[in-house]
Amino acid sequence: MHTTTPNFLFLILFSLLLSSLFTIATSSESETEDETQFSYIEDTGKGPKRWGQINPDWKACGNGAMQSPIDLLDARVQVLPNLEKLKRDYKPAPAVVKNRGHDVTVEWKGYAGKININGTYFKLQQCHWHSPSEHTFNGSRYNLELHVIHLSSDEKIAVIGITYKYGRADPFLTRMLRHIDSLPVGEEKELGIVNPGDIKFGSRKYYRYIGSLTVPPCTEGVIWTISKKVRTATREQVRALRKAVQDGYEANARPSQEVDGRTVLLYKPSLRRGST
Ligand SMILES: [Zn+2]
Repeated sequence: MHTTTPNFLFLILFSLLLSSLFTIATSSESETEDETQFSYIEDTGKGPKRWGQINPDWKACGNGAMQSPIDLLDARVQVLPNLEKLKRDYKPAPAVVKNRGHDVTVEWKGYAGKININGTYFKLQQCHWHSPSEHTFNGSRYNLELHVIHLSSDEKIAVIGITYKYGRADPFLTRMLRHIDSLPVGEEKELGIVNPGDIKFGSRKYYRYIGSLTVPPCTEGVIWTISKKVRTATREQVRALRKAVQDGYEANARPSQEVDGRTVLLYKPSLRRGST
């Protein structure tokens, strides 16, 4: 809805997007498929501090200026009531679950719908979990983070991040876990039709900033949308994900990266009757 949104708000966002365009990699892979080339443990010599040196294509991991994850610090965010409601239009579609060794990924094989960010459509590709969470809120790290990866027709990447603390079971994870439990590293399994609408966002409030993929090649120019709401998953659910991945990848969260003067926006719906 176009109402009274000041033009400069669009300009801020538009210039953010523009400034990121030239850094977007041409790779169509949203994240690396390799299970063994990098590690989360520094002692192995291929931990997060070394990722940029392991492969020439991964240089951004070491010298990038817009890396993810970051700490979402309330004191630093700009609150923009008119940013835009996140528009998700997902469709049930055939999917497979893959054990990539460094994580467990659900990948949609058919058209599973899209999100709309400032008039650009990004098609849903896959989702995967990190534990503990990669993004932190005012320094607090939670137990789990889901990344939902979307790609535009010109290969721009938009990721939705949802964090979880221990509590009640997450219904989407409940549905996926029975397939994940016995899935060997490197294998995939057909899931039939999976409705991405079953992934609950939990709130209309979200953070928005420009960052990168959090695993090599650490491609920059990623439009991040992080739900402000921390949802819940059980200890058993997080444990099951950790058990499924390759040994040594149980904790698969990249440490926080420098914000480096980047703008972090917070979308809050304006306080009208009936909105939350
Ligand atoms: Zn991820």
